[in-house]
Amino acid sequence: MEFAFVSGNPALDLAATVEARRDEAADLLGTPSDLERWVAACDELPDEVTADTATFEAALALREALYRLALDRVLGTPFDRDCLAIVNAAAAGPVPAMELSDTGLRLSGNLRAALSQVARRGIAVLADPGARLKECGRAGCTRIYLDRSRGARRTWCGMDECGNRVKAAAYRARRRAAPQSTVE
Ligand SMILES: [Zn+2]
Repeated sequence: MEFAFVSGNPALDLAATVEARRDEAADLLGTPSDLERWVAACDELPDEVTADTATFEAALALREALYRLALDRVLGTPFDRDCLAIVNAAAAGPVPAMELSDTGLRLSGNLRAALSQVARRGIAVLADPGARLKECGRAGCTRIYLDRSRGARRTWCGMDECGNRVKAAAYRARRRAAPQSTVE
């Protein structure tokens, strides 16, 4: 199973590890080892962390709080107080250590530090009044992403994840409606 990092921010990517939240929600982080793999796959986090049960539960609570706050931003409603407390508490912890070498950047730290980093990145985007947060335009996809495109024209969380699926479905629908047509 592959994780997608297309939201433009690791906090939004973490929130999106529950897919299709309004329909048949699918949780990609079912076990602590799933979380370890997600952290390792995220470019902005340490490669190797171990998740115990307590920290795993904390990560899921942070994820749900980040999702709720991002949704509050999308809807233009005040931030949920309990979720603010969860995210702010997570952000208060130590963050991963950062080292530069000829092979590039190396991040190290435990899972708590990784979660702290995710919380801080989430706070940075949620606090930015210029950040354009949107929910994906594909029906059923509940991923919230940061639209950095010119003119804020982006409609999908990612082309591979959703854009191409919507376009392919629309193409098939047009073919069915007009079998003789060669119009794209
Ligand atoms: Zn999507």
